Amino acid sequence: MTARILLLGGTGDALAIARTLGPQHVYSLAGLGRVPADLACAVRVGGFGGAEGLARFLADANIALVFDATHPYAAQISANAARACMAARVPYWALRRAPWQAQPADDWRMVSGWTGVVEAIAPFARPLFTLGREPLAHLNDVPPQQHWTIRCLEAHPGHARARIIDARGPFTADGERALFTEACIDVVVSKNSGGAATEAKLAVAREMGLPVVMMQRPPLPGAQREFASAQEAIDALAHPI
Ligand code: NAP
Repeated sequence: MTARILLLGGTGDALAIARTLGPQHVYSLAGLGRVPADLACAVRVGGFGGAEGLARFLADANIALVFDATHPYAAQISANAARACMAARVPYWALRRAPWQAQPADDWRMVSGWTGVVEAIAPFARPLFTLGREPLAHLNDVPPQQHWTIRCLEAHPGHARARIIDARGPFTADGERALFTEACIDVVVSKNSGGAATEAKLAVAREMGLPVVMMQRPPLPGAQREFASAQEAIDALAHPI
Protein backbone atom coordinates (compact mmCIF):
# COMPACT_ATOMS: atom_id res chain seq x y z
CA MET A 1 0.00 0.00 0.00
CA THR A 2 1.42 3.40 -0.90
CA ALA A 3 -1.48 5.56 0.38
CA ARG A 4 -0.45 7.22 3.62
CA ILE A 5 -1.89 5.64 6.77
CA LEU A 6 -2.31 7.32 10.15
CA LEU A 7 -2.23 4.59 12.81
CA LEU A 8 -3.63 5.65 16.19
CA GLY A 9 -1.97 3.56 18.87
CA GLY A 10 -0.92 3.18 22.46
CA THR A 11 -1.51 -0.58 22.72
CA GLY A 12 0.54 -3.71 22.11
CA ASP A 13 -1.65 -4.53 19.10
CA ALA A 14 -1.02 -1.07 17.62
CA LEU A 15 2.73 -1.47 18.09
CA ALA A 16 2.60 -4.85 16.31
CA ILE A 17 0.83 -3.16 13.37
CA ALA A 18 3.23 -0.18 13.43
CA ARG A 19 6.16 -2.59 13.09
CA THR A 20 4.83 -3.61 9.67
CA LEU A 21 4.42 -0.05 8.31
CA GLY A 22 6.90 1.59 5.97
CA PRO A 23 8.39 5.09 6.21
CA GLN A 24 5.54 6.94 4.47
CA HIS A 25 3.09 6.01 7.26
CA VAL A 26 2.57 7.70 10.63
CA TYR A 27 2.15 6.07 14.04
CA SER A 28 0.52 8.39 16.59
CA LEU A 29 0.77 8.17 20.37
CA ALA A 30 -0.89 10.25 23.08
CA GLY A 31 2.47 10.55 24.85
CA LEU A 32 1.61 8.86 28.13
CA GLY A 33 3.78 5.78 27.71
CA ARG A 34 6.96 4.60 26.04
CA VAL A 35 7.74 5.93 22.58
CA PRO A 36 9.32 3.24 20.39
CA ALA A 37 12.55 4.34 18.70
CA ASP A 38 13.00 1.38 16.37
CA LEU A 39 10.11 1.75 13.88
CA ALA A 40 10.47 2.24 10.14
CA CYS A 41 7.36 4.46 10.04
CA ALA A 42 7.22 8.03 11.37
CA VAL A 43 6.15 8.42 15.00
CA ARG A 44 4.30 11.48 16.28
CA VAL A 45 3.49 12.12 19.91
CA GLY A 46 0.72 14.17 21.57
CA GLY A 47 -2.90 15.15 20.97
CA PHE A 48 -4.20 16.70 17.76
CA GLY A 49 -6.47 19.25 19.42
CA GLY A 50 -9.80 17.41 19.20
CA ALA A 51 -11.66 16.22 16.10
CA GLU A 52 -11.10 19.56 14.33
CA GLY A 53 -7.35 19.43 14.92
CA LEU A 54 -7.23 15.85 13.74
CA ALA A 55 -9.22 16.72 10.56
CA ARG A 56 -6.66 19.48 9.86
CA PHE A 57 -3.80 17.01 10.42
CA LEU A 58 -5.39 14.54 7.97
CA ALA A 59 -5.53 17.20 5.27
CA ASP A 60 -2.08 18.72 5.97
CA ALA A 61 -0.34 15.32 6.10
CA ASN A 62 -2.25 13.96 3.11
CA ILE A 63 -3.55 10.94 5.04
CA ALA A 64 -5.55 8.45 2.94
CA LEU A 65 -6.66 6.09 5.74
CA VAL A 66 -6.97 6.30 9.53
CA PHE A 67 -6.52 3.03 11.38
CA ASP A 68 -7.70 3.20 14.99
CA ALA A 69 -5.84 0.65 17.14
CA THR A 70 -6.29 2.54 20.41
CA HIS A 71 -7.42 0.83 23.60
CA PRO A 72 -11.15 -0.07 23.80
CA TYR A 73 -11.49 2.34 26.77
CA ALA A 74 -9.86 5.27 24.92
CA ALA A 75 -13.28 6.43 23.74
CA GLN A 76 -12.46 10.11 23.20
CA ILE A 77 -9.77 9.62 20.56
CA SER A 78 -11.93 7.05 18.74
CA ALA A 79 -14.90 9.42 18.68
CA ASN A 80 -12.63 12.25 17.48
CA ALA A 81 -11.11 10.04 14.79
CA ALA A 82 -14.49 8.93 13.42
CA ARG A 83 -15.69 12.57 13.30
CA ALA A 84 -12.48 13.85 11.73
CA CYS A 85 -12.54 11.12 9.09
CA MET A 86 -16.11 11.96 8.18
CA ALA A 87 -15.26 15.67 7.90
CA ALA A 88 -12.10 15.00 5.85
CA ARG A 89 -13.69 12.19 3.79
CA VAL A 90 -10.97 9.75 4.81
CA PRO A 91 -11.81 6.07 5.51
CA TYR A 92 -11.88 5.10 9.20
CA TRP A 93 -10.89 1.51 10.01
CA ALA A 94 -10.57 0.12 13.52
CA LEU A 95 -9.30 -2.79 15.57
CA ARG A 96 -12.13 -3.80 17.89
CA ARG A 97 -10.71 -6.42 20.23
CA ALA A 98 -13.40 -8.83 21.45
CA PRO A 99 -14.24 -8.44 25.14
CA TRP A 100 -13.63 -11.27 27.59
CA GLN A 101 -16.70 -13.34 28.41
CA ALA A 102 -17.64 -14.41 31.94
CA GLN A 103 -17.43 -18.17 32.49
CA PRO A 104 -20.08 -20.04 34.53
CA ALA A 105 -17.83 -20.07 37.65
CA ASP A 106 -17.09 -16.33 37.45
CA ASP A 107 -18.49 -13.72 39.82
CA TRP A 108 -18.30 -10.53 37.73
CA ARG A 109 -19.85 -7.36 39.11
CA MET A 110 -20.35 -4.86 36.29
CA VAL A 111 -19.88 -1.17 37.03
CA SER A 112 -19.81 1.87 34.77
CA GLY A 113 -17.42 4.33 36.39
CA TRP A 114 -15.21 5.16 39.36
CA THR A 115 -18.17 5.72 41.76
CA GLY A 116 -19.45 2.26 40.84
CA VAL A 117 -16.01 0.77 41.52
CA VAL A 118 -15.86 2.37 44.98
CA GLU A 119 -19.33 1.03 45.87
CA ALA A 120 -18.57 -2.46 44.55
CA ILE A 121 -15.29 -2.84 46.48
CA ALA A 122 -16.73 -1.42 49.75
CA PRO A 123 -17.21 -4.90 51.34
CA PHE A 124 -13.60 -5.92 50.57
CA ALA A 125 -10.27 -5.17 52.24
CA ARG A 126 -7.56 -5.91 49.68
CA PRO A 127 -8.54 -4.92 46.13
CA LEU A 128 -6.18 -5.31 43.19
CA PHE A 129 -6.69 -2.50 40.66
CA THR A 130 -5.76 -3.21 37.05
CA LEU A 131 -7.43 -0.14 35.54
CA GLY A 132 -4.42 1.92 34.59
CA ARG A 133 -3.53 5.12 36.42
CA GLU A 134 -7.04 6.20 37.53
CA PRO A 135 -6.81 4.84 41.12
CA LEU A 136 -3.66 6.92 41.70
CA ALA A 137 -5.86 10.03 41.67
CA HIS A 138 -7.86 8.60 44.60
CA LEU A 139 -5.08 7.51 46.94
CA ASN A 140 -6.20 9.98 49.61
CA ASP A 141 -9.67 8.37 49.61
CA VAL A 142 -8.58 4.82 50.51
CA PRO A 143 -11.03 3.81 53.28
CA PRO A 144 -9.41 2.93 56.64
CA GLN A 145 -10.44 -0.74 56.36
CA GLN A 146 -8.81 -1.16 52.93
CA HIS A 147 -5.31 -1.50 51.53
CA TRP A 148 -5.03 -1.13 47.75
CA THR A 149 -2.70 -2.87 45.35
CA ILE A 150 -2.53 -0.86 42.12
CA ARG A 151 -0.85 -2.26 39.01
CA CYS A 152 -0.28 0.29 36.26
CA LEU A 153 2.35 1.53 33.84
CA GLU A 154 3.38 4.40 36.08
CA ALA A 155 6.31 4.63 38.44
CA HIS A 156 5.07 6.07 41.76
CA PRO A 157 6.79 6.70 45.07
CA GLY A 158 4.11 4.68 46.88
CA HIS A 159 1.60 5.49 49.60
CA ALA A 160 0.97 4.40 53.19
CA ARG A 161 -2.37 2.80 52.26
CA ALA A 162 -1.44 1.41 48.86
CA ARG A 163 1.21 -0.54 47.04
CA ILE A 164 1.82 0.57 43.48
CA ILE A 165 3.26 -1.98 41.09
CA ASP A 166 4.74 -0.58 37.87
CA ALA A 167 4.45 -3.59 35.55
CA ARG A 168 3.69 -4.21 31.89
CA GLY A 169 1.99 -7.39 30.61
CA PRO A 170 1.86 -10.09 29.48
CA PHE A 171 1.16 -11.64 32.86
CA THR A 172 1.16 -15.40 33.54
CA ALA A 173 -1.22 -17.41 35.71
CA ASP A 174 1.71 -18.41 37.96
CA GLY A 175 2.69 -14.77 38.41
CA GLU A 176 -0.89 -13.69 39.12
CA ARG A 177 -1.37 -16.54 41.61
CA ALA A 178 1.78 -15.48 43.45
CA LEU A 179 0.71 -11.82 43.54
CA PHE A 180 -2.85 -12.55 44.66
CA THR A 181 -1.57 -14.79 47.46
CA GLU A 182 1.24 -12.56 48.65
CA ALA A 183 -0.90 -9.39 48.61
CA CYS A 184 -3.95 -11.23 50.12
CA ILE A 185 -6.12 -9.96 47.24
CA ASP A 186 -9.84 -10.45 47.90
CA VAL A 187 -11.29 -8.67 44.83
CA VAL A 188 -9.93 -7.83 41.37
CA VAL A 189 -10.89 -4.59 39.62
CA SER A 190 -10.53 -4.70 35.84
CA LYS A 191 -11.43 -3.19 32.52
CA ASN A 192 -12.76 -5.66 29.96
CA SER A 193 -9.76 -5.13 27.70
CA GLY A 194 -9.91 -8.48 25.91
CA GLY A 195 -6.85 -10.21 24.46
CA ALA A 196 -4.49 -12.74 25.99
CA ALA A 197 -1.82 -10.50 27.55
CA THR A 198 -3.73 -9.59 30.72
CA GLU A 199 -6.34 -12.34 30.81
CA ALA A 200 -4.58 -14.59 33.35
CA LYS A 201 -5.90 -12.54 36.29
CA LEU A 202 -9.45 -13.64 35.38
CA ALA A 203 -8.52 -17.33 35.32
CA VAL A 204 -6.77 -16.99 38.68
CA ALA A 205 -9.70 -15.05 40.20
CA ARG A 206 -11.98 -17.89 39.02
CA GLU A 207 -9.66 -20.54 40.46
CA MET A 208 -9.41 -18.73 43.82
CA GLY A 209 -13.15 -17.90 43.96
CA LEU A 210 -12.54 -14.13 43.93
CA PRO A 211 -15.07 -11.64 42.57
CA VAL A 212 -14.11 -9.33 39.70
CA VAL A 213 -15.42 -5.77 39.56
CA MET A 214 -15.54 -5.17 35.82
CA MET A 215 -15.79 -1.71 34.24
CA GLN A 216 -18.26 -1.64 31.34
CA ARG A 217 -16.76 -0.83 27.97
CA PRO A 218 -17.59 2.65 26.67
CA PRO A 219 -19.52 2.89 23.39
CA LEU A 220 -17.23 3.29 20.37
CA PRO A 221 -18.05 4.68 16.92
CA GLY A 222 -18.64 2.32 14.01
CA ALA A 223 -15.87 1.99 11.45
CA GLN A 224 -16.01 1.24 7.72
CA ARG A 225 -13.97 -1.89 8.38
CA GLU A 226 -13.43 -3.54 11.76
CA PHE A 227 -10.80 -6.15 12.64
CA ALA A 228 -10.70 -8.54 15.57
CA SER A 229 -6.93 -8.98 15.80
CA ALA A 230 -3.68 -7.22 14.97
CA GLN A 231 -2.86 -9.95 12.44
CA GLU A 232 -6.14 -9.40 10.56
CA ALA A 233 -5.33 -5.69 10.43
CA ILE A 234 -1.77 -6.31 9.26
CA ASP A 235 -3.05 -8.56 6.46
CA ALA A 236 -5.60 -5.96 5.35
CA LEU A 237 -3.11 -3.07 5.44
CA ALA A 238 -0.66 -5.04 3.32
CA HIS A 239 -3.04 -4.73 0.31
CA PRO A 240 -4.14 -1.57 -1.46
CA ILE A 241 -7.40 0.04 -0.34
P1 NAP B 1 -8.78 9.18 25.37
O1 NAP B 1 -9.43 9.59 26.65
O2 NAP B 1 -9.60 8.53 24.35
O3 NAP B 1 -8.07 10.44 24.66
C1 NAP B 1 -7.78 11.65 25.34
C2 NAP B 1 -7.01 12.54 24.40
O4 NAP B 1 -5.67 12.06 24.25
C3 NAP B 1 -7.57 12.57 22.98
O5 NAP B 1 -8.66 13.46 22.87
C4 NAP B 1 -6.34 13.00 22.19
O6 NAP B 1 -6.07 14.39 22.38
C5 NAP B 1 -5.22 12.26 22.91
N1 NAP B 1 -4.92 10.95 22.33
C6 NAP B 1 -5.34 9.73 22.74
N2 NAP B 1 -4.80 8.76 22.00
C7 NAP B 1 -4.02 9.37 21.09
C8 NAP B 1 -3.18 8.90 20.05
N3 NAP B 1 -3.03 7.58 19.80
N4 NAP B 1 -2.51 9.82 19.31
C9 NAP B 1 -2.64 11.16 19.56
N5 NAP B 1 -3.42 11.65 20.55
C10 NAP B 1 -4.10 10.77 21.30
O7 NAP B 1 -7.51 8.26 25.68
P2 NAP B 1 -6.96 7.66 27.07
O8 NAP B 1 -7.96 6.70 27.60
O9 NAP B 1 -6.46 8.81 27.91
O10 NAP B 1 -5.73 6.83 26.51
C11 NAP B 1 -4.59 7.51 26.03
C12 NAP B 1 -3.78 6.55 25.18
O11 NAP B 1 -3.41 5.44 25.98
C13 NAP B 1 -4.56 6.02 23.98
O12 NAP B 1 -3.79 6.20 22.84
C14 NAP B 1 -4.79 4.56 24.28
O13 NAP B 1 -4.67 3.73 23.15
C15 NAP B 1 -3.75 4.24 25.33
N6 NAP B 1 -4.26 3.31 26.36
C16 NAP B 1 -5.39 3.60 27.03
C17 NAP B 1 -5.86 2.70 27.98
C18 NAP B 1 -7.14 2.98 28.72
O14 NAP B 1 -7.52 2.13 29.54
N7 NAP B 1 -7.82 4.10 28.48
C19 NAP B 1 -5.18 1.50 28.22
C20 NAP B 1 -4.01 1.23 27.50
C21 NAP B 1 -3.55 2.14 26.58
P3 NAP B 1 -6.59 15.47 21.34
O15 NAP B 1 -8.06 15.60 21.58
O16 NAP B 1 -5.81 16.70 21.71
O17 NAP B 1 -6.29 14.97 19.97
